Amino acid sequence: MSVKPDVLVIGAGFAGMYAIYRLRKLGLQVQVLEAGTDVGGTWYWNRYPGSRCDVPSLEYSFGFSPDLEQEWDWPEVFSAQPDILNYANHIADRFDLRRSICFNTRATAVTYLEQSNQWQIDTDTGTSYHATYCIMATGCLSVPNKPNIDGAERFQGETYHTGLWPKEPVDLSGKRVGIIGTGSSGVQAIPELAGQAQHLTVFQRTPVYTVPANRKRMRKAVQDEFKENYRQIRAMQQHNRGGVSTFRPIKSVKPNLNRTSQPRQTIDIKSLMPEQRQQQLDQQGLESILGFADIYNDLEANEIANDLFRHNIKRRVKDPQVAEKLLPKNYGLGCKRQVLDRDYYDTFNRDNVLLVDVQENPIKAIDSTGVQTTIDHHELDVLVYATGFDAMTGALLNANITGRNGQTLQEKWQFGPVAYLGLQMNGFPNLFTVTGPGSPSVLCNMLVAIEQHINWISKCIVYLKENGINQIEPTASSELTWISHVNDVAKDSMFTAPTCNSWYLGANIPDKPRIFMPYVGGFPQYREHCETEQDNHYPGFTLGRSAD
Ligand code: NAP
Repeated sequence: MSVKPDVLVIGAGFAGMYAIYRLRKLGLQVQVLEAGTDVGGTWYWNRYPGSRCDVPSLEYSFGFSPDLEQEWDWPEVFSAQPDILNYANHIADRFDLRRSICFNTRATAVTYLEQSNQWQIDTDTGTSYHATYCIMATGCLSVPNKPNIDGAERFQGETYHTGLWPKEPVDLSGKRVGIIGTGSSGVQAIPELAGQAQHLTVFQRTPVYTVPANRKRMRKAVQDEFKENYRQIRAMQQHNRGGVSTFRPIKSVKPNLNRTSQPRQTIDIKSLMPEQRQQQLDQQGLESILGFADIYNDLEANEIANDLFRHNIKRRVKDPQVAEKLLPKNYGLGCKRQVLDRDYYDTFNRDNVLLVDVQENPIKAIDSTGVQTTIDHHELDVLVYATGFDAMTGALLNANITGRNGQTLQEKWQFGPVAYLGLQMNGFPNLFTVTGPGSPSVLCNMLVAIEQHINWISKCIVYLKENGINQIEPTASSELTWISHVNDVAKDSMFTAPTCNSWYLGANIPDKPRIFMPYVGGFPQYREHCETEQDNHYPGFTLGRSAD
């Protein structure tokens, strides 16, 4: 006999997994629906060669269980995808999560039934599920973007997307591989593919600013020191804009071991002479340039830093014509998510790698044997799309969500996402989103953001139950006030510079409204806002009771 859950959750990535743990602890019945065959979300789907995280693993990990923190060991400072997926699997086993998950089950429609105050989830298995509360734990970068290129379906070779990489090994030896896209995924995959394939053709539209990734193995002494101090570290994460602690190991020495980039400096790049800037680049590395105080709020300073990056590329890439194509020119540092690489520029010094600039020489079509640009035809056995995602709103809009009075989410968001705190939408009672638009989300350490959201949602549901309430939704005015605040804090940042076209702005998807989607005001400020709502019994929401 099946038990009707209190809460339905869509997605068994880290958010869905933690939702099971948390809601069960609170005595609630929870059922998760997951399209994949197992847990892990992003780390389940993004198995492409070179895939790894850009947040240190000792921080990109859950803080809800001290035992979990103590028993898990990370092999590297910044983990590769298989190690993060192992961690997800360990959590699923350790907390017996899989019994609450229906795998191979994709939600096809999510509908609010007004009369019964229930959410109905229809699925591709034919089974429909019902619950009072529904949590969309569908991820921010989970809907792969595949550009609509003429003739793509005619290609006779193998086709892959980095965001949907198969579980089975892909053998590229002796093959001519093409890759479209040079964002974070492409930059990580390109050196690996070049090493495996007979030949690699890189189709680049926009060159990137990339810095060398930290490649250090985890030192036991550093990990032990983190483990000894985890309570302090988790508290520090709560007060950091990006949800990453400023903890520095003392006993295990070696400073900066656990940082993505150099700590922010207090000096301005403009205050240094050109030779001093060059000296810093030579002595402290490219990543140290990212730490200057002025480069994200002063266009002139930004351009000085951009130029140092270009200079570095010219030094690294042997063929000056290839180097020229790799220079980012039309936007500045800070517009897009910072890319990290391993041997990216050296890859273009290999004999088996060709760079095609598709700004200068656009892709006209794909045919049965390869890619046709305006001047060349590139014969390929394999074509890899590293073309990103319909970020933040894609998974929610694809889920066919219908709220009160038959209003669809597509209708509500036709001019861009409107939500309160990235947690709920007016007109969609009892539907919650995890790390949704208007929350720090992708600008924060995801695991910290996920824990905070699931904790908030769980506490909210318990409050409703304890108070005989079974409906909650934000008021239209609190939603609009919040959205206007989200826009205000983003408007003068590098993220929204007129030359900037990023997925944060939806600029990578044709016809997507240009809105800066995540909350740039920082995780602590955001968290405090959420806490104030709960401490004051949800003044920004309408609470109600309808028939069960
Ligand atoms: P992305 O940053 O959106 O990059 C997509 C790439 O595909 C861009 O170079 C884009 O060019 C290109 N592209 C798209 N359509 C094209 C077309 N029709 N013709 C030619 N080129 C086309 O996507 P992503 O690399 O998958 O990364 C997305 C995000 O995922 C990252 O920003 C990051 O947050 C996350 N991620 C993180 C890591 C990590 O932790 N290190 C790794 C991978 C991904 P344009 O720029 O010209 O549009």
